[in-house]
Amino acid sequence: MWQHGSLMTTSPLLMIPGPTPVAPEVLAALAEPVRSHTGPENAATMLRIQAGVRELMGSAQARVYCFAGSGTLAMETALINHASPGERVIVVSHGYFGDRFTEVARALGMRAETLHVEWGEHADAAALRELILAGAAPALVCMTHVDTSSGVLAECAALAATVRAASPDAVIVVDGVCATGGVEETMDAWDVDVLLTGAQKALSVPPGLVVLAVSERARSRRELLGDIHAYYADLRRWDASVDDPRKYFSTHAVSLLRALEVSLDGILAEGLPARYERHRRVAGMVRDGMAELGFAPLTNAACLAPTLSVLALPDGVDDAALRAGMTERGVVIAPCLGPWAGKGVRIGHMGTVTEAEAARTIDAAAAAIAAHA
Ligand code: PMP
Repeated sequence: MWQHGSLMTTSPLLMIPGPTPVAPEVLAALAEPVRSHTGPENAATMLRIQAGVRELMGSAQARVYCFAGSGTLAMETALINHASPGERVIVVSHGYFGDRFTEVARALGMRAETLHVEWGEHADAAALRELILAGAAPALVCMTHVDTSSGVLAECAALAATVRAASPDAVIVVDGVCATGGVEETMDAWDVDVLLTGAQKALSVPPGLVVLAVSERARSRRELLGDIHAYYADLRRWDASVDDPRKYFSTHAVSLLRALEVSLDGILAEGLPARYERHRRVAGMVRDGMAELGFAPLTNAACLAPTLSVLALPDGVDDAALRAGMTERGVVIAPCLGPWAGKGVRIGHMGTVTEAEAARTIDAAAAAIAAHA
């Protein structure tokens, strides 16, 4: 086991912005005997996941789908079920993963128009309103709650209100992959239609599950579309097994689902306000500690997400050398993406991460820098 301040380790500490460290009780759930995908134990797990996700995502009415796949499949599923090829889709992009919505929409033959926000800044609601009103009513408006590339926490409540006022019937899709479980999300209060996430970030489960919570408005849109060019990603085909998880559509990832059930139990037992407060506290500790080493956020101070920090390298510190030096000391962090590649590093601090892991990360960075000085 890791000891704070020690170079002795059996496994590296993952401080990348996903996948994140997984708690022992969740790993233990993965080691349980495999269950039948149509049996009563898995059905009970799935119903508990649905209830837990509704609580986590702040929705009394959403329908919760959870199946094997990565976050990108969740994005594709959200788009293909709620807009047809040729329809107008607006994307608010705060970075690399916002741009992915545009790419997915175009791959699906939709007419995507993107509000490109400067990296590290918030979107301008007036510019979004203008873009929406400049053309036909969009079928979808997509946004990323926390863009894992720029470290921006989007102002989802305000942006969703802007969309609703400008285009009342638009289906609003929020990517919560780097947010859900680490920062508050209130789907009903925001009047958001699809909130999607993956297992591997602030939900503290290994990669491999998509979670989508879907509103009544979005479900009506799905009905209107009729047959779509998807099979596994067609939410209508999953519906019977959402209502009764003993019904087969496609074999459930039973072990990962059990792990998610255990992780959600832990998340709800910690209490959502306490959990979000811990994320803010640990984020502050990482930023303060790294500031002492000369690292400053590339993200505007008003836009910082509590789940990761995107930090500019101090003069004379090389990106690859720093990360290699930290890996040697048992802490793995990530490089920057897109226009910020080579300029900084990304440190994830979400899920199970506490002050102890933040301290280890800062110590490893200090030691790696000192070794190269
Ligand atoms: N959205 C966001 C905000 C992400 O951070 C990621 C992955 N880092 C994705 C979508 C895509 O998820 P995946 O890699 O699981 O396909």
